[in-house]
Amino acid sequence: METEAQKKEESFAATFNSLTERHGLAIVLTDENSSALEKSNNNSMCEILYNSEEFAPHCEKFCGKAFAEAMKAETTVGYKCYAGLNCLAVPLKKEEKQLVAIVGRAFTKADDYRNATSRAIEGDWRRFSANEFFENVLLSNSNENLEKLARQIEKINGLQKVQSPKSRVQSRQTSAANDEQRTADEINLKSEVRSPKSKHWRSLLGSLLDLNYRQACFLILQFVAERFSIENLAWLERREDRLETIFVKGNLKNSEIRISISADDERLLEAVRRETSLELRERLADKNAEDEPQTLRLFPITVGGEIRSALVIADEVAGREKPLARFCRKIASDVEILRLRQQLTQRNWLERAVIKFKESLKTIDSEDFWAHLTNISAELVQAERSSLLVFDEKSGSFVAKAATGARSDFIKKIEENLGERISKKVLSGGEAIVVENVGKIGLSSAPEDWLYKSDSFISYPIAIGERKIAVLNLTDRADGESYSHLDLEILDSIMPQLAVLIDRANLKSKAGEFQQLSVTDALTGLLNRRYLEERLTEEIKRSNRHAFPLSFMMIDVDEFKSYNDSFGHIEGDKALQIVGTCLKETLRGADVAARYGGEEFSILLPQTTSEEAAVIAERVRHRVENGCFTKRQVTVSIGVASCSLSLNTPGDLVSAADKALYEAKRRGRNNVQIYEHLEKD
Ligand code: GH3
Ligand code: MG
Ligand code: MG
Repeated sequence: METEAQKKEESFAATFNSLTERHGLAIVLTDENSSALEKSNNNSMCEILYNSEEFAPHCEKFCGKAFAEAMKAETTVGYKCYAGLNCLAVPLKKEEKQLVAIVGRAFTKADDYRNATSRAIEGDWRRFSANEFFENVLLSNSNENLEKLARQIEKINGLQKVQSPKSRVQSRQTSAANDEQRTADEINLKSEVRSPKSKHWRSLLGSLLDLNYRQACFLILQFVAERFSIENLAWLERREDRLETIFVKGNLKNSEIRISISADDERLLEAVRRETSLELRERLADKNAEDEPQTLRLFPITVGGEIRSALVIADEVAGREKPLARFCRKIASDVEILRLRQQLTQRNWLERAVIKFKESLKTIDSEDFWAHLTNISAELVQAERSSLLVFDEKSGSFVAKAATGARSDFIKKIEENLGERISKKVLSGGEAIVVENVGKIGLSSAPEDWLYKSDSFISYPIAIGERKIAVLNLTDRADGESYSHLDLEILDSIMPQLAVLIDRANLKSKAGEFQQLSVTDALTGLLNRRYLEERLTEEIKRSNRHAFPLSFMMIDVDEFKSYNDSFGHIEGDKALQIVGTCLKETLRGADVAARYGGEEFSILLPQTTSEEAAVIAERVRHRVENGCFTKRQVTVSIGVASCSLSLNTPGDLVSAADKALYEAKRRGRNNVQIYEHLEKD
């Protein structure tokens, strides 16, 4: 037998579930001990922060205080919590207990949301599993929605009267129950919920969060096509400050045009304010200038007032503009959560990929160098087949250094026309290509006897400065999926090291040739300044483009004039050779050590943070200090600088390392100084 109290509690649960489902917000019923009696659609961030020893006290300060204030004032109190979520504390009249409903727990400002995500991605919330932390993030485009919900709770405070099914289901998919509870200020919602259309919306919205981002975008396009009878449409996504075409359906698929528009375009922002769309006239098949320009409609999709994506419709939408705009508002937060989840998984995966790559490099041996390198790269993007074609400038043709997977012997044997079909174009274009389907880019499929399993591949050019050195081709993804730009990002992150290794192996194999002489320092066998400067320019560009870490060290031999004066120039030269050997022995595979001039050396450290560089610099200093010099002990002073937003040109990086080196000399020599630390002092 259910007691009266149990019944009451159930009616709370059912009512709250119905409300939170409609508003996409959280309701948490708490008592004076801050215990949550009933939680409905709770924000996953709150759930996790509240359960962590370290952060619970912070949350307590906000939600706990709001409880007290709301009770004291006997009215609803609004506040922004520790995590930047907007909340309202609604006091509830209950005979036996004092209760407060915490309502909302949603981000309403893009800045708050960004701040929280960056804490979760790279800050102090990083320890939490991304999937759980972002399981149910609540986003709302305005405070109005929160206030509306709070008002409804105030009105239905006498919950006993409510008839409700005995459902305790807390999912977003509960059925459209409790129609009786709706109040007059929900007229819009009411008509939407009751129309047959909304049943479909409901089922779409209920299932989005179970998909991955890409699947969800496809499903949304599919849904819009069917429900609104639209044939031609596209999905734009924000990339930095522009909205770029990501997925297309219908005739937009074949058109030459890639829609791209500034995300801060005033007309788009105006469309957001007016809750409508932006009309554009574009010539779709721009090959044929005779074609009539076509009307396109862009429906912006916003999160916290910021445009994150857009739906493009190339059909006539007369009379359906408002429902489409409303549809876009409805899906906004789910899409954003999925995008974020994907970004986080991708970020974790990228970090792991770079670590794994670095680890694998340790075991690389010179005998199987090329095969090993190609294998490691292929594994990162699950390619069952791969080939590494090194370009020989002299003959203007490719040499297959390695091929892995089925039919790999076959590729190695092709000498004529190797790489003519795709690799050559990719190398001269300088941009990696990722192809979902060869047919779509106007290329014929590979000859049948190459036995490719799929039509999707990646072709990645490897260059150092102006010098184009190789192309890495990857295909036949192990899971049968097509390659996407996400796979390119993985390759981007290992390319700096890959380029150095290939270049170095190439130089080695050309031993004795002029090319090598022109980049090598004769006395020490290290690379020379000319080479270093070329590489520095290239690596800084890469670091700026992809936000990869990059460090640089300047090394100067201490009191070397007196060494020469005491033992002569020839002995001095011998000592410099030993310093060179010490550097070679201390460095990792992808580091570039050069003799910068005289008794100065420098080291370029791709994919290395300033903390890691400090450790390596200390190792170098120690190694030289303990080197076997014949006449007397030799020491070096080292200055380290790393790329950052303000340090992003070769000139600036070298002069920053120089400043740190000067400081090392000033502090008594035989020590390491880090430029970033000097800045702080
Ligand atoms: P510190 O750097 O500690 O301030 O003192 P230092 O005596 O090393 O001063 P500085 O860097 O100004 O002097 C560089 C000296 O290194 C000048 C020259 O005698 C010597 N040197 C430079 N290039 C070479 C070289 O190629 N061979 C030899 N044997 N000595 C060189
Ligand atoms: Mg000097
Ligand atoms: Mg010196």
